[in-house]
Amino acid sequence: MHCEDGFAIVYFLLILRMRDCYTIIISCGSVFQTEAREEGIYMYADYHVHTYYSDDSDYPMEQLIRDAIGMGLSEICFTDHVDYGIKQDWIDQSDVYHPEEKATLPMMNVKYPAYHAEINRMRNKYAGKIVIREGMEFGIQVHTIPQYQKLFDSYPFDFILLSCHQVEDKEFWTQDFQNNKTQREYNRKYYEEILEVIRKYKEYSVLGHLDMITRYDMAGSYPFENVKDLVAEILKQAIKDGKGIEINTSSHRYGLNDLTPSRQIVRLYRDLGGTVITIGSDAHKQEHLGAYIKETVEELKRMGFSSICTFEKMKPIFHRL
Ligand SMILES: [Zn+2]
Ligand SMILES: [Zn+2]
Repeated sequence: MHCEDGFAIVYFLLILRMRDCYTIIISCGSVFQTEAREEGIYMYADYHVHTYYSDDSDYPMEQLIRDAIGMGLSEICFTDHVDYGIKQDWIDQSDVYHPEEKATLPMMNVKYPAYHAEINRMRNKYAGKIVIREGMEFGIQVHTIPQYQKLFDSYPFDFILLSCHQVEDKEFWTQDFQNNKTQREYNRKYYEEILEVIRKYKEYSVLGHLDMITRYDMAGSYPFENVKDLVAEILKQAIKDGKGIEINTSSHRYGLNDLTPSRQIVRLYRDLGGTVITIGSDAHKQEHLGAYIKETVEELKRMGFSSICTFEKMKPIFHRL
């Protein structure tokens, strides 16, 4: 190496240093104007939000974006519902759910072309104000995997939440799935279904609300020790595949005393070497949006996590906490 090369390298390193400093200064400058600054949040992002494309929400997409900007969110990811097995795809009906139509419409999946087109329009309209990612929440069961594979291949997704909302096409919130089973049976069957799904299906980013079955357990909390083996297998498989878990802050509005998934599960994920974590409010209306994200970040820091993730084109981006 001759002298000029040496100079070039030193100069390059200095620029990197300067860019580091610059980034830090800019971060401090921008977060000062938002609530997030006080909590030291590096990235204020909500990675689980529903709009009028989901059967259980009538939150207009553009209104959600305006609300998010107003709250100082720097990034959102739309994760509207697809639940093959129990919901149909739209054919000729409206593109979205309007409150006055609710009672007369069946439960439908996202109307994909309209959803994709509106996200693109919104991205252009709000460019520079907020980062908008295109995701979906796949409520996958083993027997519906081929339908999700087809859907995944049809759109340029940034992020997929893999959730388990039904097993055997039976819902949890109605107790349809739990009825006629012991507490042990429905708890273990729930995790067995997820494990089988993720052994076969890999086109996802993180596991959504991994212990959601506890939310609808009328028999009271089921000891974690009795399902720990299955949960550990799920987490090991996810880590091996480079996948993460979501912390779903709706636990606060459901009045649960724990995180979703539970602190035991989050710690187990950490202890097994997992590092990919997203945080989402599971907002279905304005008052849910961005809720408890900053508190969750603080708790993750206390648990020893050093970053949270956002996603672009299915690739995780780590943000230091
Ligand atoms: Zn869900
Ligand atoms: Zn959701």
